[in-house]
Amino acid sequence: MELSTRAKNIAPSATLKAAAKARALKAEGIDVISLTVGEPDFVTPKVIQEAAQTAIVKGQASFYTPTSGLPALKSALKNHIKKNYGLDYQANQLLVTPGAKFALYTAFQVLLNPGNEVLIPVPYWVSYSEQVKLAGGVPLFVHPSDPHSGKVTVSDLEKMVSPQTKILLLNSPSNPNGMIYTADELVAIADFVSQHDLIVVADDIYSNLVYNHEVFTSIAMINPEIQKRTIVITGVSKTYSMTGWRIGFAFGDQEVIQAMSDLQSQAASNPTTVSQYAAIAALNDGEKAAEEMRQAFEERLNKAYDLVEKIPGFTLVKPHGAFYLFPNVAEAMANCGYDDLDVFVEDLLQEAHVAVVSGTGFGVHNAIRLSYAVSPEVFQEAVERILAFLQQKSLKCKH
Ligand code: PMP
Ligand code: GLU
Repeated sequence: MELSTRAKNIAPSATLKAAAKARALKAEGIDVISLTVGEPDFVTPKVIQEAAQTAIVKGQASFYTPTSGLPALKSALKNHIKKNYGLDYQANQLLVTPGAKFALYTAFQVLLNPGNEVLIPVPYWVSYSEQVKLAGGVPLFVHPSDPHSGKVTVSDLEKMVSPQTKILLLNSPSNPNGMIYTADELVAIADFVSQHDLIVVADDIYSNLVYNHEVFTSIAMINPEIQKRTIVITGVSKTYSMTGWRIGFAFGDQEVIQAMSDLQSQAASNPTTVSQYAAIAALNDGEKAAEEMRQAFEERLNKAYDLVEKIPGFTLVKPHGAFYLFPNVAEAMANCGYDDLDVFVEDLLQEAHVAVVSGTGFGVHNAIRLSYAVSPEVFQEAVERILAFLQQKSLKCKH
């Protein structure tokens, strides 16, 4: 059958593809360690599971909900935003979605006309560029002038912005490099956004996964003017270890949220009902469990960073958020005779049996993403395998 041009141009999600490949090798009986997919490895906290079970038993989970979400969930979300952002939103400015990924998808669909540009700082999460293209938009990749900072500055953004630019995408803490924009940096960026009359899509999905006394600030918190220009995307997947439940949120301008909701009414009706009941419990009663998981990630980060930083030819700045390390591996590749990152990543998988995600999907050709959402023992074993692989390859290369 002849596929649409749109379908032919979609690249599959690089993260999900890498994870699927690792799973397939495991299914063949190969002992692969997968540091690919970005999802917490904890079972969803009990208090959340129980709320879902109750909703099923009471028969509440059997029915459609309003498209934009259960009123009780929107009320819990309103309180959550007040507490975490210090900001007030009305019910008609809130939308519950089937995962944060779908919230991003609908935001681009309702905001972009063909040819509208979206500024996307590099490295970027794999789905932004494809989603922008699916909406007819044009991704404009903004490279940081200081690659070590892993963050863009206003002068980097100024170099790329044009009269066709409509949106700035911001993701802090960032997937894949874990960097967090400070309040001062966001003040300057907010000024830039206002000057160029842009809209911000702020992907705050990792806002609660911040470590070692670092603080999260959303650009929506900078001033009322930028708050009006910002659509915040977030969800329960990462904070409460609920990736499988598929619940995300969007909040911001009422007209945009209404359009996203209308699109959702045609595409998905409503987010899965039982998951919405689970999300109410997450927001209202999940804080203690979320904090325990955050602390576990903090310990893992500190251990994982110490190990990766010592790998010969790997360089990285210590991240403060999310659950990924994104080392530059250019020197290690050169030492081992590689000039193609994807070949290096494939050999790591086939020979060292360690699955990582190539930086290519994140817009970078010399870095790899390692998820530390695995036990510290498993992470250490992966690093040992990487070390042995590099040593063997570099010896071969020298001869
Ligand atoms: N944004 C970023 C940066 C992510 O890493 C992810 C990962 N899943 C998402 C959005 C989507 O989250 P969800 O699972 O809620 O769709
Ligand atoms: N966001 C996670 C990741 O980057 C989950 C997979 C995906 O949706 O991309 O690995």
